[in-house]
Amino acid sequence: IQYSDKNVKEILRSVISVLETQAILANVNLVKDYDENLPIIYCDENQLKQVLLNVIKNAIEAMPQGGDIRITVKKKGTEALSIQVQDHGPGIPADMMERIGEPFFTTKADGTGLGLMISRRIIDAHQGTFRIWSEPDRGTTVEIELPASGRSR
Ligand code: ADP
Ligand code: MG
Repeated sequence: IQYSDKNVKEILRSVISVLETQAILANVNLVKDYDENLPIIYCDENQLKQVLLNVIKNAIEAMPQGGDIRITVKKKGTEALSIQVQDHGPGIPADMMERIGEPFFTTKADGTGLGLMISRRIIDAHQGTFRIWSEPDRGTTVEIELPASGRSR
């Protein structure tokens, strides 16, 4: 674990480059909507990459017919950053929502059911928040909020 000051846009650029081929094959367009002036984040770069990889991969897997996934990054107040990943997949049924993030809970034939659990843990360790909301047939949004560097120390 190695914390340092990082630019989230650069972390996203690297994660998106890893997922680019999978997105193209799924006819998914990753739409970037980033604020101009974003705070620097004090984080473990590899762990944050792992979280964003998990979340964006889940979004791509939720849209096998293709479409847009919007990745929004904005300043939240003066001391935080928000990253949202919004898909237009089937959403998560209400009765399943409480099991999401339980270890090994997966609806995928080749899923591990570990991605969200690990993601939540990593964001907790960063003193951030990890939220999922979903509307059946409309899609799912994951929001990660992280404190700006200097506030968490
Ligand atoms: P895995 O991707 O290996 O199944 P995750 O922990 O990443 O494990 O996700 C657990 C489950 O949560 C998935 O199997 C899926 O049912 C549900 N899920 C996660 N993200 C989404 C999403 N964007 N849209 C719909 N369902 C999702
Ligand atoms: Mg996953």
